[in-house]
Amino acid sequence: MTVSQNIIRADVRALSAYHVPDASGFVKLDAMENPYTLTPELQQELGRRLGSAALNRYPVPTYAKLKAAICAKQGVPAGWDVVLGNGSDELISIVSVACAKPGAKVLAPIPGFVMYAMSAQFAGLEFVGVPLKKDLTLDLPAMLAAIREHRPAITYLAYPNNPTGNLFDAQAMLEIIRAVGDAGLVIVDEAYQPFAGDSFMSKLPEFDNLIVMRTVSKLGLAGIRLGYMSASQALLNEFDKVRPPYNVNVLTEVTAGFMLDHTDVLDAQASAIRAEREVMLSSFSEIDGVEAFPSAANFILFRVAKQGVTGTQIFERLLAQKVLVKNVGKMHSLLDNCLRVTVSTPAENAVFLAALKSSLNS
Ligand SMILES: *Cc1c(COP(=O)(O)O)cnc(C)c1O
Repeated sequence: MTVSQNIIRADVRALSAYHVPDASGFVKLDAMENPYTLTPELQQELGRRLGSAALNRYPVPTYAKLKAAICAKQGVPAGWDVVLGNGSDELISIVSVACAKPGAKVLAPIPGFVMYAMSAQFAGLEFVGVPLKKDLTLDLPAMLAAIREHRPAITYLAYPNNPTGNLFDAQAMLEIIRAVGDAGLVIVDEAYQPFAGDSFMSKLPEFDNLIVMRTVSKLGLAGIRLGYMSASQALLNEFDKVRPPYNVNVLTEVTAGFMLDHTDVLDAQASAIRAEREVMLSSFSEIDGVEAFPSAANFILFRVAKQGVTGTQIFERLLAQKVLVKNVGKMHSLLDNCLRVTVSTPAENAVFLAALKSSLNS
């Protein structure tokens, strides 16, 4: 036996590393990134501020100023606070670790965001996936039955959901939050909130067991790694004990503070992406052999539904034309022959649509 065989957990050794393909030279539409950058003027001003940041010091561990700016600008209810994470991936991990009592379970609709199940496994929690309905909407009776059976410590609802892009029925989500009650936490993951036009943030004061989680990643700041979550102060106090003390670095803190003074820029970018999403959805409806699902996010899930060709073949033909999307067909049987494409600039979207049409016809 080697050292790694002796020491590393068997379930970790059995995993394959999260694979991120090298996208240089590709039109990159696989990761829900915002295609827009800052104006040269804003870049210069940000550069000046980053240049004078105190790199020799640890960040101020309370992050009081940044948290206050987030609360004030992002619709956090008055008097409510947030905990910050190195991306919301870290927040998911913090909540998982804080709740990992022996036998505790995590519940989420599937197909869903892969980190829910991964973080559960790393923290030693059992993950229970409840399949969506065939049309990829929430199966409320199945969710309620699973909650009764498993009494999950954590239930995730992504609003809108990834990789499907749809908003679950808000009334059904409220029923789930009530059904879980004080036996568990419900995390509403609003990673795509800038594109969704709806939010559970204002519902926080109504529910002791609700956590609303967001990230700046899909908003155009994926590179700085910053997520935040709000919940009752009693819960936030506990999560803060698990959070690594300096988890948000000084450069991220400065950049986020700067961007919160320029939310108009990010809002305008999100608005352009929402408009492009509608353009793309109507283009999809005119292409034979594909079916796009409704989207409230900055990506579109579509199914290849043409005789004699699979989703994977279309994925590969797109790759051959230097267009990278995400092949989600193997994630779950509900997603057979499905691909997921990020909504980008009009120019990149046009390249994608042309490549898709030629892939379907070759
Ligand atoms: C992208 C994504 C996240 C992760 O965001 P980071 O802040 O970049 O870690 C969380 N939840 C969902 C549903 C996502 O799609």
